[in-house]
Amino acid sequence: MRTLEEQWPAPEALSTPLIGIPAGSAVDVDLRLESVHEGILATGEAHAELVGECSRCLDPIRDGITVDLQELFLASPSESDGGSDEERLVVHETVDLEPVLRDAVVTALPFQPVCRPDCQGLCAECGIRLDEAPDDHVHEQIDPRWAALAALTDSAETGAAGPDQKTSSDETEER
Ligand SMILES: [Zn+2]
Ligand SMILES: [Zn+2]
Repeated sequence: MRTLEEQWPAPEALSTPLIGIPAGSAVDVDLRLESVHEGILATGEAHAELVGECSRCLDPIRDGITVDLQELFLASPSESDGGSDEERLVVHETVDLEPVLRDAVVTALPFQPVCRPDCQGLCAECGIRLDEAPDDHVHEQIDPRWAALAALTDSAETGAAGPDQKTSSDETEER
């Protein structure tokens, strides 16, 4: 049995759109390689830093990830089904751990990463972070039946043309 404790640069594409291990950053690998009847059994774990952004508030996230690695590399393709694509083989007495790492990492990555489990995200109305907003942060929900009246008040306040005949004729001219 051989044990490895090494640091390797992360390969490309260890990520989802929102979070992942940046290519080239350090991945700590702690691995045991055992010679077994069928080939080589690799077991161990890998640890790396994750960089991403919160799916709710878009804040940057920095986190660690540790994944278990386990794979049996066959000495020769299994003949029963002609060998499947999923099979990993020992080639020239070496094993390719990159796809094993990728599978382990990509399945372990959170689909919707959050900066904190209770992140409130952003206000759908104004976009401020709800965690930082006062508790009573609400936007007045105006009954649609009153919306026309509210629009009228708005335009009066801003000094814009009132919603009378003049407005509609202005709009016509613009087109
Ligand atoms: Zn967040
Ligand atoms: Zn708001």
